[in-house]
Amino acid sequence: MDSSVVCTETFATDGCVKSRHKKNISRDVESDIESLCKAIPQLAKTFRIIDKIGEGTFSSVYLGEARMRDGSREMFALKHLIPTSHPTRIAAELQCLTVAGGRENVMGVEYCFRKEDHVVIVMPYMEHQAIVDIIGSLSFEEVRLYIYHLLKALRHIHQFGMIHRDIKPNNFLYNRKAKTFALVDFGLAQGTADTQIELLKDLVGLRKGPRSVFSEKNLNSCVSTSTTKQETKTQLVKPTKTGELSSRRFPAARGGPATVRTQKVQRGVHQPLTCNCFRTDRVCNVCLSRKQQVAPRAGTPGFRAPEVLSKCPNQGTAIDVWSAGIILLSLLSGRYPFFKASDDMVALTQIMTIRGSREMVQAAKAFGKTVLCSRELPRLDLRVLCETLRGRRADEEVKPISRPKLDCDASDERGQKQSCETTPLLPKRQDKTPNDSSGGDCQVGDEQGWDTVPDEAYDLLDHLLDLNPTSRLTAAQALQHPLFKHL
Ligand code: ADP
Ligand code: MG
Ligand code: ZN
Repeated sequence: MDSSVVCTETFATDGCVKSRHKKNISRDVESDIESLCKAIPQLAKTFRIIDKIGEGTFSSVYLGEARMRDGSREMFALKHLIPTSHPTRIAAELQCLTVAGGRENVMGVEYCFRKEDHVVIVMPYMEHQAIVDIIGSLSFEEVRLYIYHLLKALRHIHQFGMIHRDIKPNNFLYNRKAKTFALVDFGLAQGTADTQIELLKDLVGLRKGPRSVFSEKNLNSCVSTSTTKQETKTQLVKPTKTGELSSRRFPAARGGPATVRTQKVQRGVHQPLTCNCFRTDRVCNVCLSRKQQVAPRAGTPGFRAPEVLSKCPNQGTAIDVWSAGIILLSLLSGRYPFFKASDDMVALTQIMTIRGSREMVQAAKAFGKTVLCSRELPRLDLRVLCETLRGRRADEEVKPISRPKLDCDASDERGQKQSCETTPLLPKRQDKTPNDSSGGDCQVGDEQGWDTVPDEAYDLLDHLLDLNPTSRLTAAQALQHPLFKHL
């Protein structure tokens, strides 16, 4: 069957807005569609653009219908990238889709339109349900299947040396009825050191441009989290080894063009600047004046791996596996989002409340970071945690995991301290909505398998949420886990 799109004047008259009167779309969306059609007239000749179906920081996604050569009509997702996107970034996103897409639960790409700085990536449209809407009605079997298919997509892209960097339910589409899955959004993807995706190599070059501070080994950040009885205080400090510090001099203004920062504190001060804040829960002025270590940190805070949060410069495909672990934790506990952090230090503290502070300190050491925590946070039993959050255990059992009040101080990119509001460490209960069960094959009132969750589920979770990226399971290994033996 010839399924190519008829690129004629088919929709020339109704392509943009005129035929949408039946559908209730907002005036804003309508005007966005009109601007898009003006920016890329060819798009309106090819598609009837029906609605906006997604909007993020870097793109807007529209639903478009095209008439195919055989007379049939097909739906497409049209991703309009913001015109300020870097050309290499755009090309890399396309290359990820063309090289890895269209199989193994990875979204494919059909066409691409460009006029001047406007680029639209055309993908097959996949109807899907938002996890936030269906989490309350998912059966355990669905959760198992969802994670299995997500790991399959990860194994596939990781083979090419692609790191997705933004693994979260919004980027892993799930069609409940058809039981189909698709990984989307390679807008933040990066390559491993030996990536096969040529353009991802170029991105590394982009990132390591003239302002790179990757070489500043002596400015290795460390993370200090101090927890008192009432509160958990988190700070980012930047010393190296204790012994070196007392004798070390730090030039005050070693920053490049982009570092204005807090240099005023040190400029003109000619005495040696030594630092003694190491292993304390404060950040001294010397440290505040130093350039922050820069490491990739794209993605969504609540899904970021510990090595990302603590700015480890060597990050690999393991960061996607961590995010898959957070998704599994979310699905097993019935809470979405599981972690909602206002900044990286809060996110790191939240991870420690579940995985344990001692474990975090140890793992961080393995990837070259120092984490300080003034109070020990015990590692939690994942089954007890998930069952408690699901309401399957008495409330008393929540106590050990109840949240210390969060009062965090963290240095931002300019080395300035910032405070954030108190954030609950654990998410609120997600209430089921009566019309949740669309397409699900579970009956209302039954246990949906939540009374018989096998130990394997929590064992896999434990290995996906391994704080140490070098011992964390790979996606390929995770697929061999006994939890999936029947799949
Ligand atoms: P962004 O970079 O803005 O997050 P995404 O590629 O993640 O862009 O797309 C945003 C949203 O658009 C997705 O979360 C999804 O809901 C929808 N979307 C993207 N691609 C498709 C597709 N092929 N089919 C259906 N919906 C899609
Ligand atoms: Mg996205
Ligand atoms: Zn200091």
